[in-house]
Amino acid sequence: MCGIVGFTGREGALPILIRGLYSLEYRGYDSAGIAAFTKEGLKVVKTCGRIKNLEDKIREQGGLDCACGIGHTRWATHGGPSDSNSHPHLGGKDGHNSVAVVHNGIIENYLELRERLEAHGYTFHSETDTETVAHLIDYLHTGEQQDLAMTVLKAVSRLRGSYALGVVSLDRPDEIVAARRDNPLVIGLGEGENMIASDVTAIISRTKNYIILDDNEVAIVRPDSVVVMNEFGDVVEKTVQTVTWDLSAAEKGGYEHFMIKEIMEQPKAVADTVRPRIHDGQIAFEENGLTDERLREAEHIHIIGCGSALHAGIVGKTVIEQMARVRCSAVVASEFRYENPIVGEKDLCIVISQSGETADTLAAMRQAKAAGAFAIAIVNVVSSTIAREADGVLYTWAGPEISVATTKAYSAQLSALYLIAARIARVRGCISSEEERAVCEELHGLPDRIRETLTCKEHMQYLATLYANRSHVFFLGRGLDYAAALEASLKLKEISYIHSEAYAAGELKHGTISLIEEGTLVVALATQPALYEKTVSNIREVVARGASVILVTNDDFDGDESQCQQVVRLPKCMNRFSASLSIIPLQLLAYYIAVQLGCDVDKPRNLAKSVTVE
Ligand code: GLU
Repeated sequence: MCGIVGFTGREGALPILIRGLYSLEYRGYDSAGIAAFTKEGLKVVKTCGRIKNLEDKIREQGGLDCACGIGHTRWATHGGPSDSNSHPHLGGKDGHNSVAVVHNGIIENYLELRERLEAHGYTFHSETDTETVAHLIDYLHTGEQQDLAMTVLKAVSRLRGSYALGVVSLDRPDEIVAARRDNPLVIGLGEGENMIASDVTAIISRTKNYIILDDNEVAIVRPDSVVVMNEFGDVVEKTVQTVTWDLSAAEKGGYEHFMIKEIMEQPKAVADTVRPRIHDGQIAFEENGLTDERLREAEHIHIIGCGSALHAGIVGKTVIEQMARVRCSAVVASEFRYENPIVGEKDLCIVISQSGETADTLAAMRQAKAAGAFAIAIVNVVSSTIAREADGVLYTWAGPEISVATTKAYSAQLSALYLIAARIARVRGCISSEEERAVCEELHGLPDRIRETLTCKEHMQYLATLYANRSHVFFLGRGLDYAAALEASLKLKEISYIHSEAYAAGELKHGTISLIEEGTLVVALATQPALYEKTVSNIREVVARGASVILVTNDDFDGDESQCQQVVRLPKCMNRFSASLSIIPLQLLAYYIAVQLGCDVDKPRNLAKSVTVE
């Protein structure tokens, strides 16, 4: 969600800033802008729409020759997308602007601050909460000896809410001051140049070394130095981290979209997540606190996530309960927070987030920890906030995921949950060591099953040509198939904008079946042999009302498929892990339908990759 990039170094900063903005595009945005120091002083160019529009506008205005600047992609929260609401925002009284600010997040007390600043003679040119920060910094930035970082520290102490900030001031045209609270910000360390960015994808073309700014810290970034201070103004030592993947991992590598590239990368994502944790027929976690004792004694497992991570959690809940017979719930993070959840000290909390920055999930995790639960995070981005704040981490090693609609990170999350499920089952004595060995073999082979499933690619491309014109699609399934259906439905609606719903197959007749009419597309999932007949009956019900049905089922399905227009068969795997296979054709179907409809597959409208506001 929204992005910040800043560069200070030598001349020629503009292409670096633009490139940085392009690499943050995947996070989701509706407008973009840059503030840079040119020979004529501090110049701001900003516009609603894509980065391409920004480039055009900069060109029309004669370019931006600069060695230092800050850029932003905005995902509107306060005031709609417009040129004036775009960042950077200038702080100062008209004609005397002293600072420019880019901001990610939400300032909750902005109205109150705005009123007070207006009373001090400040005029506002936007509806944003961010402009308040810009004027507040200007207001506090008085006196010759005041340095910008100290002013920013003073300003942020008056803010409520969340922020990552990049600030530049007329005083020092080679300096960027950065600050954060509950919103990610990294500092890229180069040779004679340094950067700030929302995430490492924006710095990787210049450097692999970076430090992570922690909450309430402020950084002074100059071409030859980076100094980080805590909220008291004391200098703090930071650990330099190194990005472990290279630029090619964040590029399309010949594919038309990141999404299809990432779909095809799923065997590797799952293999890298699962295989290092299987040793000699046993699951062995790295040092992450998932000790046998803790797993044995957990009284309740709370799985928390949003969107696809929640859907992975729903699959995980079913698998954990089936295998390990321990009470488990999968909860929407933003609901968990406010429902006064019953969390005990012996409970285990599994939080799932690709980015590790999801604001709702982070807040829910903090709450569960405060209630005494042990929090294990399943995250993909190394050293992200959730990873650092959790009691332990089980990383998904899916590599950078750029497409907003998740595929490989979701699959890696599923496999991480299977590992936990199997280990809990073993330590609780629900499965024998032989059974654990069999499960390990199955999980070890899962990447190959996914690879086989991916061979349905052309078939799904063909089905997309048949069904892309539907306005409503229902995904039906029971048990694990219902859990997989939730994710399949989300994939379709988020990238193709076709209305779709996932329904527990037996529940449809209790109301929603009224929406089935001639030509409605129904995708039925049936991978659990014990439920084949029940699902077939539900297929009959919708076919009787005019639906066209695509059935996704096992290779050895022996039920009645005569009512289905299309059948997609999956390779054989342990039934309890079937969600990892059934989602594959449905990700492909969603992808090809979206392509067919000319949608912006990797950057769907209104969506953001890492949702850092509540
Ligand atoms: N709340 C700010 C705005 O609406 C920042 C949004 C963002 O994070 O991009 O402008």
